[in-house]
Amino acid sequence: MAQAGNSELVDSFEQFFRNYYDNEIKQLAQQYPNEQRSLHVDWQDLYRYDPNLADDFLAQPEQLQRYAEEALRLYDLPIDVSLGQAHVRIRNLPETESPEIRDIRARDMNSLVQARGIVRKATDVRPKIEEAAFECQLCGTLTRVPQSSGDFQEPHECQGCERQGPFRVNFDQSEFVDSQKLRIQESPEGLRGGETPQSLDVHVEDDITGEVTPGDHVSTTGVLRLEQQGDGQDKSPVFDFYMEGMSVDIDEEQFEDMDITDEDKEEIVRLSSSEDIYEQMVGSIAPSIYGYEQEKLAMILQLFSGVTKQLPDGSRIRGDLHMLLIGDPGTGKSQMLGYIQNIAPRSVYTSGKGSSSAGLTAAAVRDDFGDGQQWTLEAGALVLADQGIAAVDELDKMRSEDRSAMHEALEQQKISVSKAGINATLKSRCSLLGAANPKYGRFDQYEPIGEQIDLEPALISRFDLIFTVTDQPDEEKDKNLAEHILTTNYAGELTTQREEMTSLDVSEGEIEEMTEQVDPVIDAELLRKYIAYAKQNCHPRMTEEARETIRDFYVDLRAKGTDEDAPVPVTARKLEALVRLSEASARVRLSDTVEQRDAEQVVEIVRSCLQDIGVD
Ligand code: ADP
Ligand code: MG
Repeated sequence: MAQAGNSELVDSFEQFFRNYYDNEIKQLAQQYPNEQRSLHVDWQDLYRYDPNLADDFLAQPEQLQRYAEEALRLYDLPIDVSLGQAHVRIRNLPETESPEIRDIRARDMNSLVQARGIVRKATDVRPKIEEAAFECQLCGTLTRVPQSSGDFQEPHECQGCERQGPFRVNFDQSEFVDSQKLRIQESPEGLRGGETPQSLDVHVEDDITGEVTPGDHVSTTGVLRLEQQGDGQDKSPVFDFYMEGMSVDIDEEQFEDMDITDEDKEEIVRLSSSEDIYEQMVGSIAPSIYGYEQEKLAMILQLFSGVTKQLPDGSRIRGDLHMLLIGDPGTGKSQMLGYIQNIAPRSVYTSGKGSSSAGLTAAAVRDDFGDGQQWTLEAGALVLADQGIAAVDELDKMRSEDRSAMHEALEQQKISVSKAGINATLKSRCSLLGAANPKYGRFDQYEPIGEQIDLEPALISRFDLIFTVTDQPDEEKDKNLAEHILTTNYAGELTTQREEMTSLDVSEGEIEEMTEQVDPVIDAELLRKYIAYAKQNCHPRMTEEARETIRDFYVDLRAKGTDEDAPVPVTARKLEALVRLSEASARVRLSDTVEQRDAEQVVEIVRSCLQDIGVD
């Protein structure tokens, strides 16, 4: 702490306000207390004014905030208003000054930190008593007891008659503040290689409550506090961190703001014009999985996605592609799903049962998080994957609550929750990559495949592509697969032991050949940048030839199978799917036009998927 005395610190803040925040304070005075109750201060401004003061604020936020608020109360205002209860809320700490959620440690206790992440849970906003006025039932005197967090405190005795009550809380004379609890979870794009995201609870009060919805990406700034685990007799010596939130800001949607250097860009543009770019892409997805060229190409298209369209009438057509792999067990589905996390700039991997009470979509629950009193709205996987890919394994095992909410989540890309006074709409603008087993666990080869998909037609029609994988013995294929798996199993060792091996009798060329099979053609880092670059810069439009190809295919398809009872109905959604897929195909080439070759390529995929299911 600087050597300055208290009043000097108040003076410093007054000076600072005069230099940097004069207009903001005048505006606050005009809108106080109804429209605005806080002065939002950018930490970087404070740092520019006085680096020591700014550093002190990080180390001792509680005291410094008090001085700042005192300075605000003393501020000379042109109008006669008292900013008595106004808050000073600091925000925008530099990233270097603040630990990641997973790196928060005991040393950070009571200091000011900033946490960035996605709102996973939010309770509803409820009044919390700050100072309770107890009215003595015998003499009528009011005894005021300040309430901090924890148990509700009653007075020891009446301040008037000194007896032990009985008391009644007089609500009119008590002071309440709006309160809300949030749980912030690390954003999926910060995590690599399937790390479990960590989370931090944030308690907010007064004017910053009710501002965010689960699924929002936020930066929260506040003071780290401790809360003892367990309760009553079972108190534990271990504590949990929570943040006393000073400010909560919704982050701009800066998805894909990757560092793409000029060199990267050159490399990407060069790659995009190679003849065999699609093959190179396919060779970069799950190289340890043998075969599945078409599925892998579809996954590539899903990563690039089509163009989202806003129609003049206000409606919206999604550009995101949903795809489903249905197949026999042990055919590599889970492996392929897992691989997406290596490449997708933002992705969430979960199983159909979901790993939380929110499951795949969202839920309003009354649980410990809201102390059993407040309702909590919790975001599920499709919300957490907003603007990314949700890889959902064992989709057929999803909970029944999710089944109905899925329809809206996949097509409108939002999830509405209305329960117990909570009315919220959560965004789920993601692509779903699902895997499922057939109805009886395995495909029965004597029954039509289409009838063995255990999902209702309305849900099925929302998938742009459905791949079916049967595990039939096939000598040629089995031999290759066995060879591939046997090689890849040792490829990891090979790379590490390369040096030793060359001194033995294995030639450099032989090792090269073995590792080549499992190295992605384009490495994951570059592929991520490629995808981000294409999504930012390419918004392809259809050429006349592409349009014709798609139209003819669709008309033909409808003429063949408009059977209402078909397990996989061909609806106008298929047409939109074809458009999305071919836009994605154009994006792979960084092209601004969807050409006939794109249309033909996707017609080929869609046709083969439909044939497998038995529509043709
Ligand atoms: P599923 O989810 O379809 O039941 P998994 O993804 O768990 O199957 O695969 C089981 C195992 O078999 C994995 O270790 C996977 O690597 C291997 N495997 C299955 N199919 C292939 C394939 N085509 N190429 C390489 N490995 C495969
Ligand atoms: Mg599996």
